Amino acid sequence: MSYSVTSSLARALNVLSESMGQGRVVAGATDLFLKSLSPELVDVSSVPELLGINRDHGSLSIGAGVTHAEAAASPLIRLEAMALAEACRQVGSPQIRNIGTIGGNVVNAAPAADAAVALVALGARAVLIDLGKRQHHAAVEELYADYNLSTVDSSSEILLRFLLDLPARDEGSAFLRFAPRQALSLPLVNAAARVRLKGDAIESVRAVIAPVNPAPTRLYETEKMLLGSWPEDDTWRKVEYTAASEVEVRGSLLRCSAGYRQHLVGVLARRVLKKAVERAVKSRMGGDGS
Ligand SMILES: Cc1cc2nc3c(=O)[nH]c(=O)nc-3n(C[C@H](O)[C@H](O)[C@H](O)COP(=O)(O)OP(=O)(O)OC[C@H]3O[C@@H](n4cnc5c(N)ncnc54)[C@H](O)[C@@H]3O)c2cc1C
Repeated sequence: MSYSVTSSLARALNVLSESMGQGRVVAGATDLFLKSLSPELVDVSSVPELLGINRDHGSLSIGAGVTHAEAAASPLIRLEAMALAEACRQVGSPQIRNIGTIGGNVVNAAPAADAAVALVALGARAVLIDLGKRQHHAAVEELYADYNLSTVDSSSEILLRFLLDLPARDEGSAFLRFAPRQALSLPLVNAAARVRLKGDAIESVRAVIAPVNPAPTRLYETEKMLLGSWPEDDTWRKVEYTAASEVEVRGSLLRCSAGYRQHLVGVLARRVLKKAVERAVKSRMGGDGS
């Protein structure tokens, strides 16, 4: 087996090209090293094109090689994409957060990947480059092929960064997860939301729940119910009921019974949407994203 570390994107693409499908991109290795090893590994964790968090032409650009710890602590992500900061803050343990990357989280394609759930709710687009140095964009939810299977072929493509529309003044986002412990614990359910207000109504909403399908799952019925309204107590009760009814969950020995998870889907959907609305109201009044 060979392991190349490079800070040059061109060199990383060359190594993949020369290894004729036997090579593979590696970042923090917190997922990959628990699975299979390829004969030729290319470590991209110090390639500049995959690093950095900045505003770029009306978008927030977040490098695929940004670690969970960096994202959780980033003032820019906390201001513009709080749901992602909250998700990254709850991944694994400090050791995992210090080396595990957002790009690796998405390409590993676990149904409950915390950062991926937040990125889907935020409407993030991934920017990828192939061996011919052609770049293309895809919505994060489109990168899921099946359970634990990504459409990204890490032997011939590199995920460079994520782009998120910068929020308007009336927007808020949030992420929540429910797990038996606060560290190193599988989430029973995780949820994220992004909400934009206009006047006294919700103008746009994205609500996402996981793990119920291979990819983080939009709660379209719940979103439809909220659009154009101003939620009161009664609405929040309906949100809980609608969210729990619109997805089918399975029970598992690793997590818990289907009935308990169905209940959690409703509760987390209500709480995360309510939090996002509260943040949108606060942001409208000139507050930050917290
Ligand atoms: C003890 C432990 C606890 C964990 N807890 C959590 C948790 O609470 N929540 C959670 O979501 N995850 C958790 N994880 C999973 C893991 O840490 C994360 O998914 C992490 O973000 C993976 O990133 P990485 O950089 O280590 O990826 P790697 O292991 O390096 O790579 C993962 C996959 O992505 C590919 N890849 C990586 N970067 C790129 C790129 N730029 N372009 C193309 N392909 C790429 C690799 O080829 C590989 O297929 C845990 C893991 C461990 C070991």
